Amino acid sequence: MSPSGDTGPIRRLSVLSTGSVRIRPEHGHRTWRPLPVWLLTSRRWTPPLPINVFVIEHDRGLVLFDTGQDRRSVTDADYYPGGLAGVVYHRLAEFAIGKDETLPARLRSYGYQPDEVSHVVVSHLHQDHMGSVLDVPNAELLVSRTEWELVRRVGAEANGYLRRHIEAAAERWRPFDFQPAGADVAPFGQAMDLFGDGSLVLLPTPGHTPGSISLLVRRPGADPILLVGDLTFDAPHFGPDHLPGIGSLRDLRASTGLVEALRARLPGLAICAAHDPAAAGSFRAAVDAAG
Ligand SMILES: [Zn+2]
Repeated sequence: MSPSGDTGPIRRLSVLSTGSVRIRPEHGHRTWRPLPVWLLTSRRWTPPLPINVFVIEHDRGLVLFDTGQDRRSVTDADYYPGGLAGVVYHRLAEFAIGKDETLPARLRSYGYQPDEVSHVVVSHLHQDHMGSVLDVPNAELLVSRTEWELVRRVGAEANGYLRRHIEAAAERWRPFDFQPAGADVAPFGQAMDLFGDGSLVLLPTPGHTPGSISLLVRRPGADPILLVGDLTFDAPHFGPDHLPGIGSLRDLRASTGLVEALRARLPGLAICAAHDPAAAGSFRAAVDAAG
């Protein structure tokens, strides 16, 4: 709470995980080995990592940042495409999602009904971020226009875009354009203020994918939080020397630099990633610190 007693429009913040995922170590931490090489030859998996969904109860609605992975991906044999694209998905990640770890089950454990979710913001359109959009049937689905346009590209499925599952919610997707940003989020030059009140501001952070975005969460008198999706898998070591193994190196470096500069201007900024084991703890610490 701020000294004036103003608590702002955000009432409650929570984090949940739709099961867990093991990835190749080279995926979380970039090495000299090119992606096609490690993807097809790596024999190692990381320990299970979270698949985080952030839940924001705002005066204007119930907002999710990402939706996590669909349990059908581990129960339905035809969830993934066949052929080479199917091989890529199976080599890339190994999911474990129990019956009580689905998005609806996890939302209910926090006292929310899935049909109460009014807005979903996806960091990007990979399966473990948009996978459960059908589980929140009343939500508008916000995605950056750059990301949305990748879905229809030739070869999209082999690049991580499960077109059939994305398009299953077709009429609810709302691709948006960024606007010139205010000085309060400098050095970012573009932003999208979700409700126009400064509490939830979307920022372009391309790198992992060309249309990847982050969400800046601000409350009066509390440390700000930046939800970064897959910009990092290891926020405690966030920086240009610890970049993930998937995406444009140039863009990852540029976005990481912008976030570092933002953090220098916003002391106490908590950086929370989708698959970072430290994310839930740092998110809850930032939430609790507000009192
Ligand atoms: Zn991704």
